[in-house]
Amino acid sequence: MSGAKFLDLNAPLPDELVPFKGKLGPNFNEVRRKVVSFAVEECIPMLPRYRQEFEELRQKQQDPLLTPQPPCFKELQQKAKDRGLWNFFLFGGGGLSNLEYAPIAEILGAVPLVNAAMNCSAPDTGNMEVIHKFGTPDQKRRFLEPLMNGEIRSAYAMTEPGVASSDATNISTRIEADGDDYIINGHKWWISGAIRPECKLLVVMGKSKFDGPRHRQQTMVLVPKDTPGVKIVRALSVFGHRHDHAEIIFDNVRVPKTNILLGEGRGFEISQARLGPGRIHHCMRTIGSAEIALESIVHRAHSRKAFGKLLKDHQAIHQVVAEARIEITQIRMLCYLAATMADEYGFKAARKYIAMIKYAAPKAALKIVDEAIQVHGAHGVSQDSGLSALYTNLRTLRVADGPDIVHLQTVSKMEINKQVSATGRRMSGENKNIVKYNKFEHVPEISYAKLAPHLQSKV
Ligand SMILES: Cc1cc2nc3c(=O)[nH]c(=O)nc-3n(C[C@H](O)[C@H](O)[C@H](O)COP(=O)(O)OP(=O)(O)OC[C@H]3O[C@@H](n4cnc5c(N)ncnc54)[C@H](O)[C@@H]3O)c2cc1C
Repeated sequence: MSGAKFLDLNAPLPDELVPFKGKLGPNFNEVRRKVVSFAVEECIPMLPRYRQEFEELRQKQQDPLLTPQPPCFKELQQKAKDRGLWNFFLFGGGGLSNLEYAPIAEILGAVPLVNAAMNCSAPDTGNMEVIHKFGTPDQKRRFLEPLMNGEIRSAYAMTEPGVASSDATNISTRIEADGDDYIINGHKWWISGAIRPECKLLVVMGKSKFDGPRHRQQTMVLVPKDTPGVKIVRALSVFGHRHDHAEIIFDNVRVPKTNILLGEGRGFEISQARLGPGRIHHCMRTIGSAEIALESIVHRAHSRKAFGKLLKDHQAIHQVVAEARIEITQIRMLCYLAATMADEYGFKAARKYIAMIKYAAPKAALKIVDEAIQVHGAHGVSQDSGLSALYTNLRTLRVADGPDIVHLQTVSKMEINKQVSATGRRMSGENKNIVKYNKFEHVPEISYAKLAPHLQSKV
């Protein structure tokens, strides 16, 4: 891809795909070209009109957060349908593998509106996948069809302010049977999109059992947003700006038992499935965001003069650009590896690589955006630059997509015992005088017999 712009219609494939070339199917190039054309020919030119129409509607609204999508967005959705790109995420973009989806998702992360216009926005995608996989025919008719037609939107309600929600077994919302109904009582927050007028459905995770195995207590139910007892308390702010994430009280909310997904105590099972391919879509899009942040650095370097010369002629900028390119290459390779592992061995087996990229991608992209803001000076934090919004998105992703530490733990758990070895012990070396003079309390010897029986004879 050297020398070519990321979003050119004729941009070659990322160099990082070269090692994986043999795994790309016959449809891949055509599908990728279709998405790039849609982004370049329809979405980018529509952006100024979208912003203007949205602003006009916003000014008419008492609460700006209740601004509906402007009419031109419907036009864009229709264009996505006409180009065969509607619900692109389903079945990995028309039968694409996870690896094939990755470089295409980068485009979705680089151009605003593309993802939403193709009906591929979170949390709808995850919710649609769940209802598609686990919903009854009636649930599919009532909720999945309008979601897939883009007539309504949805939200996913798991996180609670009162408990550490990175551990889903802590969730305390009660979903209790009462005759033919369930009654829901709980307090949720950060429920993305629930403020939007288009959002009509909440997929709620709670507990219907409070004892027994920790992963068999959770239950998921479908709750129409206008059900009595659903109280949207407030919209939450991100870095001081009001967003469409809702804080919600469920106060004796009654839904028919037929709204349950899969069965009582099976919510955790669903949430695992919910995070199938969607698990790495954020990471893939993040790489696209990093790519355009780097392009903004290069643009600024060619157009801004300081201390008598263009920024591009200052040595310090070269380091920023080179480091950004290296970081993008690293996360892209890791992302393609995670996607390939998922394709070859399934998501469970690919868990370690998925956790790695979920940790690494937003962190690296955030650093690049941070450098881009620095290179743009005050302009970079202003509303005239897209960088401040990009920074906000990536920073929140490091919590919203599971805190960094949770992904690190997934990786470390698989390393910490596996890597106990005689080689490690030899490399560490030891000070024999510690035992000889016996002035310190001793840490017990590692039990190689238990941790690495295969190496015991060599210790
Ligand atoms: C912008 C945004 C959008 C979101 N959208 C949604 C949504 O649509 N639906 C929804 O249900 N939720 C949503 N969330 C919530 C998000 O999923 C949670 O914030 C996340 O899972 C973390 O839960 P928590 O906030 O309770 O943090 P906690 O679980 O309290 O964790 C906070 C911190 O505690 C520390 N910590 C936690 N565990 C460990 C550990 N094992 N070891 C060491 N330290 C640890 C870490 O520093 C961690 O970052 C969103 C959040 C944001 C910011």
